[in-house]
Amino acid sequence: MPRVPTKLVTWEEIVDWSRGLANIIKKSGWRPDVIVAVARGGYVPARLLCDFLGVENLLSIQSQHWTEAAKAEERAILRFPYVVDMRDKRILIVDDIVDTGDTLITAEKFIRENWYPLDVKKAALQWISSVAKIKPDYYYIEVKEWVWFQYPWTRLEDVTSFIKRMISEEAKNGRIAWTFNDIVSSFREWYGIDVDKIYYEDALENLIEMGFLDRKDNLYIIKL
Ligand code: AMP
Repeated sequence: MPRVPTKLVTWEEIVDWSRGLANIIKKSGWRPDVIVAVARGGYVPARLLCDFLGVENLLSIQSQHWTEAAKAEERAILRFPYVVDMRDKRILIVDDIVDTGDTLITAEKFIRENWYPLDVKKAALQWISSVAKIKPDYYYIEVKEWVWFQYPWTRLEDVTSFIKRMISEEAKNGRIAWTFNDIVSSFREWYGIDVDKIYYEDALENLIEMGFLDRKDNLYIIKL
Protein backbone atom coordinates (compact mmCIF):
# COMPACT_ATOMS: atom_id res chain seq x y z
CA MET A 1 0.00 0.00 0.00
CA PRO A 2 1.32 3.47 -0.85
CA ARG A 3 2.03 5.62 2.26
CA VAL A 4 0.56 8.77 0.72
CA PRO A 5 -2.54 8.44 -1.45
CA THR A 6 -1.34 9.89 -4.73
CA LYS A 7 -2.71 9.80 -8.26
CA LEU A 8 -0.62 10.68 -11.28
CA VAL A 9 -2.48 12.88 -13.76
CA THR A 10 -1.32 12.88 -17.39
CA TRP A 11 -1.33 15.75 -19.89
CA GLU A 12 -3.91 13.80 -21.93
CA GLU A 13 -6.25 13.65 -18.94
CA ILE A 14 -5.82 17.40 -18.40
CA VAL A 15 -6.90 18.10 -21.98
CA ASP A 16 -9.88 15.69 -21.67
CA TRP A 17 -10.99 17.15 -18.35
CA SER A 18 -10.62 20.75 -19.58
CA ARG A 19 -12.69 19.96 -22.65
CA GLY A 20 -15.31 18.25 -20.47
CA LEU A 21 -15.40 21.26 -18.16
CA ALA A 22 -15.76 23.63 -21.14
CA ASN A 23 -18.70 21.58 -22.41
CA ILE A 24 -20.43 21.79 -19.01
CA ILE A 25 -19.98 25.58 -19.04
CA LYS A 26 -21.31 25.79 -22.62
CA LYS A 27 -24.38 23.71 -21.73
CA SER A 28 -25.16 26.00 -18.78
CA GLY A 29 -25.72 28.84 -21.25
CA TRP A 30 -23.39 31.16 -19.29
CA ARG A 31 -20.33 32.52 -21.07
CA PRO A 32 -17.41 34.47 -19.55
CA ASP A 33 -15.92 37.59 -21.15
CA VAL A 34 -12.71 37.14 -19.16
CA ILE A 35 -11.01 34.12 -17.65
CA VAL A 36 -8.84 34.60 -14.58
CA ALA A 37 -6.33 31.83 -13.89
CA VAL A 38 -5.51 31.41 -10.24
CA ALA A 39 -1.73 31.02 -10.19
CA ARG A 40 -0.15 28.73 -10.25
CA GLY A 41 -2.42 25.69 -10.46
CA GLY A 42 -5.07 27.30 -12.62
CA TYR A 43 -2.75 28.36 -15.46
CA VAL A 44 -2.96 25.35 -17.75
CA PRO A 45 -6.68 24.60 -17.22
CA ALA A 46 -7.50 28.30 -17.76
CA ARG A 47 -5.54 28.42 -21.01
CA LEU A 48 -7.27 25.27 -22.26
CA LEU A 49 -10.68 26.66 -21.29
CA CYS A 50 -9.89 29.78 -23.35
CA ASP A 51 -9.24 27.50 -26.29
CA PHE A 52 -12.31 25.28 -25.84
CA LEU A 53 -14.65 28.21 -25.07
CA GLY A 54 -13.16 30.66 -27.59
CA VAL A 55 -12.31 33.24 -24.92
CA GLU A 56 -9.53 35.75 -25.77
CA ASN A 57 -9.22 37.58 -22.48
CA LEU A 58 -6.99 35.76 -20.01
CA LEU A 59 -5.58 37.25 -16.82
CA SER A 60 -4.04 35.75 -13.74
CA ILE A 61 -3.83 36.43 -10.05
CA GLN A 62 -1.71 34.56 -7.57
CA SER A 63 -3.37 33.25 -4.47
CA GLN A 64 -1.09 31.35 -2.16
CA HIS A 65 -1.42 29.37 1.02
CA TRP A 66 0.69 30.25 4.01
CA THR A 67 0.88 29.14 7.60
CA GLU A 68 0.94 31.72 10.32
CA ALA A 69 3.73 31.06 12.82
CA ALA A 70 2.48 29.15 15.85
CA LYS A 71 -0.97 28.76 14.34
CA ALA A 72 -2.37 25.54 13.04
CA GLU A 73 -4.68 26.92 10.39
CA GLU A 74 -3.57 27.93 6.93
CA ARG A 75 -4.61 31.08 5.16
CA ALA A 76 -4.48 32.06 1.52
CA ILE A 77 -3.13 35.47 0.55
CA LEU A 78 -2.94 37.32 -2.77
CA ARG A 79 0.65 37.96 -3.72
CA PHE A 80 0.25 40.82 -6.22
CA PRO A 81 -3.16 42.40 -5.61
CA TYR A 82 -3.42 44.62 -8.71
CA VAL A 83 -6.65 46.34 -9.62
CA VAL A 84 -8.39 46.49 -13.02
CA ASP A 85 -11.78 47.81 -14.03
CA MET A 86 -14.10 44.91 -14.88
CA ARG A 87 -17.40 46.78 -14.49
CA ASP A 88 -18.95 45.36 -17.66
CA LYS A 89 -17.30 41.92 -17.60
CA ARG A 90 -18.44 38.42 -16.68
CA ILE A 91 -15.46 36.71 -15.05
CA LEU A 92 -14.70 33.01 -14.74
CA ILE A 93 -12.09 32.25 -12.06
CA VAL A 94 -10.26 28.98 -12.78
CA ASP A 95 -8.16 26.69 -10.63
CA ASP A 96 -6.99 23.10 -11.01
CA ILE A 97 -8.60 21.73 -7.84
CA VAL A 98 -10.76 22.93 -4.98
CA ASP A 99 -9.39 21.22 -1.88
CA THR A 100 -10.03 23.37 1.20
CA GLY A 101 -11.39 26.03 -1.16
CA ASP A 102 -9.38 28.83 0.52
CA THR A 103 -7.47 29.75 -2.61
CA LEU A 104 -10.59 30.31 -4.71
CA ILE A 105 -12.47 31.99 -1.85
CA THR A 106 -9.62 34.50 -1.43
CA ALA A 107 -9.36 35.16 -5.16
CA GLU A 108 -13.12 35.65 -5.57
CA LYS A 109 -13.39 37.99 -2.58
CA PHE A 110 -10.59 40.20 -3.90
CA ILE A 111 -11.99 40.30 -7.41
CA ARG A 112 -15.52 41.16 -6.28
CA GLU A 113 -14.34 43.87 -3.90
CA ASN A 114 -11.73 45.48 -6.16
CA TRP A 115 -12.51 44.77 -9.82
CA TYR A 116 -16.30 45.39 -9.63
CA PRO A 117 -17.21 42.75 -12.24
CA LEU A 118 -20.70 42.34 -13.68
CA ASP A 119 -20.66 38.68 -12.63
CA VAL A 120 -18.22 36.11 -11.21
CA LYS A 121 -18.29 32.33 -11.42
CA LYS A 122 -15.75 29.73 -10.32
CA ALA A 123 -14.55 26.62 -12.14
CA ALA A 124 -12.10 23.83 -11.31
CA LEU A 125 -11.19 20.58 -12.97
CA GLN A 126 -11.65 18.77 -9.66
CA TRP A 127 -13.61 19.39 -6.49
CA ILE A 128 -12.91 17.45 -3.28
CA SER A 129 -16.47 17.49 -2.00
CA SER A 130 -15.68 15.84 1.35
CA VAL A 131 -13.36 18.62 2.54
CA ALA A 132 -14.04 21.77 0.48
CA LYS A 133 -15.67 24.80 2.10
CA ILE A 134 -17.23 25.76 -1.24
CA LYS A 135 -18.63 24.07 -4.31
CA PRO A 136 -17.41 25.69 -7.54
CA ASP A 137 -20.12 26.71 -10.03
CA TYR A 138 -18.49 24.37 -12.54
CA TYR A 139 -16.28 21.32 -12.00
CA TYR A 140 -15.53 18.23 -14.05
CA ILE A 141 -14.68 15.60 -11.44
CA GLU A 142 -16.07 15.25 -7.94
CA VAL A 143 -13.46 13.60 -5.68
CA LYS A 144 -14.95 11.94 -2.62
CA GLU A 145 -11.85 10.65 -0.88
CA TRP A 146 -8.88 12.93 -0.43
CA VAL A 147 -5.95 12.13 -2.72
CA TRP A 148 -2.91 14.17 -3.76
CA PHE A 149 -3.19 14.66 -7.54
CA GLN A 150 0.24 14.77 -9.08
CA TYR A 151 -0.44 17.20 -11.95
CA PRO A 152 2.08 17.39 -14.81
CA TRP A 153 2.94 21.03 -14.06
CA THR A 154 4.15 20.29 -10.51
CA ARG A 155 5.92 17.05 -11.31
CA LEU A 156 9.47 18.07 -10.42
CA GLU A 157 8.38 20.10 -7.39
CA ASP A 158 6.32 17.17 -6.06
CA VAL A 159 8.92 14.48 -6.79
CA THR A 160 11.56 16.59 -5.03
CA SER A 161 9.49 17.01 -1.88
CA PHE A 162 8.25 13.39 -1.98
CA ILE A 163 11.80 12.02 -2.15
CA LYS A 164 12.90 14.39 0.61
CA ARG A 165 10.06 13.21 2.85
CA MET A 166 10.77 9.54 2.12
CA ILE A 167 14.51 9.82 2.79
CA SER A 168 13.96 11.86 5.98
CA GLU A 169 11.51 9.29 7.32
CA GLU A 170 13.76 6.35 6.44
CA ALA A 171 16.72 8.11 8.11
CA LYS A 172 14.79 7.79 11.39
CA ASN A 173 15.11 4.02 10.94
CA GLY A 174 18.86 4.38 10.37
CA ARG A 175 18.92 4.34 6.58
CA ILE A 176 21.25 7.03 5.29
CA ALA A 177 22.60 5.84 1.91
CA TRP A 178 20.63 5.06 -1.25
CA THR A 179 21.41 4.05 -4.80
CA PHE A 180 19.41 5.64 -7.61
CA ASN A 181 17.50 2.37 -8.08
CA ASP A 182 16.73 2.14 -4.35
CA ILE A 183 15.20 5.60 -4.50
CA VAL A 184 13.09 4.81 -7.54
CA SER A 185 11.74 1.52 -6.16
CA SER A 186 11.01 2.97 -2.70
CA PHE A 187 9.34 5.99 -4.33
CA ARG A 188 6.99 3.66 -6.22
CA GLU A 189 6.18 1.83 -2.98
CA TRP A 190 5.66 4.97 -0.92
CA TYR A 191 3.53 6.89 -3.38
CA GLY A 192 2.09 4.21 -5.65
CA ILE A 193 3.09 6.16 -8.77
CA ASP A 194 6.03 6.25 -11.14
CA VAL A 195 7.41 9.15 -13.17
CA ASP A 196 9.88 9.53 -16.04
CA LYS A 197 13.52 8.99 -15.11
CA ILE A 198 14.35 12.65 -15.77
CA TYR A 199 12.18 13.70 -12.82
CA TYR A 200 14.07 11.45 -10.39
CA GLU A 201 17.37 12.73 -11.78
CA ASP A 202 16.41 16.40 -11.57
CA ALA A 203 14.81 15.98 -8.12
CA LEU A 204 18.02 14.45 -6.78
CA GLU A 205 20.03 17.32 -8.29
CA ASN A 206 17.65 19.74 -6.52
CA LEU A 207 18.14 17.95 -3.20
CA ILE A 208 21.95 18.09 -3.58
CA GLU A 209 21.74 21.79 -4.44
CA MET A 210 19.51 22.37 -1.40
CA GLY A 211 22.17 20.78 0.81
CA PHE A 212 19.89 17.91 1.80
CA LEU A 213 21.83 15.15 0.00
CA ASP A 214 25.43 14.39 -0.91
CA ARG A 215 26.50 12.16 -3.82
CA LYS A 216 29.47 9.83 -3.35
CA ASP A 217 30.27 7.36 -6.14
CA ASN A 218 26.87 5.84 -6.93
CA LEU A 219 25.32 6.59 -3.53
CA TYR A 220 23.04 9.38 -2.38
CA ILE A 221 23.67 10.14 1.28
CA ILE A 222 21.48 12.20 3.57
CA LYS A 223 23.33 15.09 5.25
CA LEU A 224 22.49 14.75 8.89
P1 AMP B 1 -7.09 24.87 -1.66
O1 AMP B 1 -6.89 24.01 -0.45
O2 AMP B 1 -8.45 24.62 -2.28
O3 AMP B 1 -6.90 26.33 -1.32
O4 AMP B 1 -5.99 24.42 -2.71
C1 AMP B 1 -4.83 25.18 -2.94
C2 AMP B 1 -4.06 24.76 -4.17
O5 AMP B 1 -3.17 23.74 -3.73
C3 AMP B 1 -4.83 24.15 -5.33
O6 AMP B 1 -5.19 25.13 -6.27
C4 AMP B 1 -3.82 23.18 -5.91
O7 AMP B 1 -2.95 23.83 -6.81
C5 AMP B 1 -3.07 22.71 -4.70
N1 AMP B 1 -3.73 21.50 -4.12
C6 AMP B 1 -4.49 21.45 -3.01
N2 AMP B 1 -4.94 20.21 -2.77
C7 AMP B 1 -4.45 19.44 -3.76
C8 AMP B 1 -4.56 18.03 -4.07
N3 AMP B 1 -5.29 17.20 -3.32
N4 AMP B 1 -3.91 17.57 -5.16
C9 AMP B 1 -3.16 18.42 -5.93
N5 AMP B 1 -3.02 19.73 -5.69
C10 AMP B 1 -3.66 20.25 -4.62
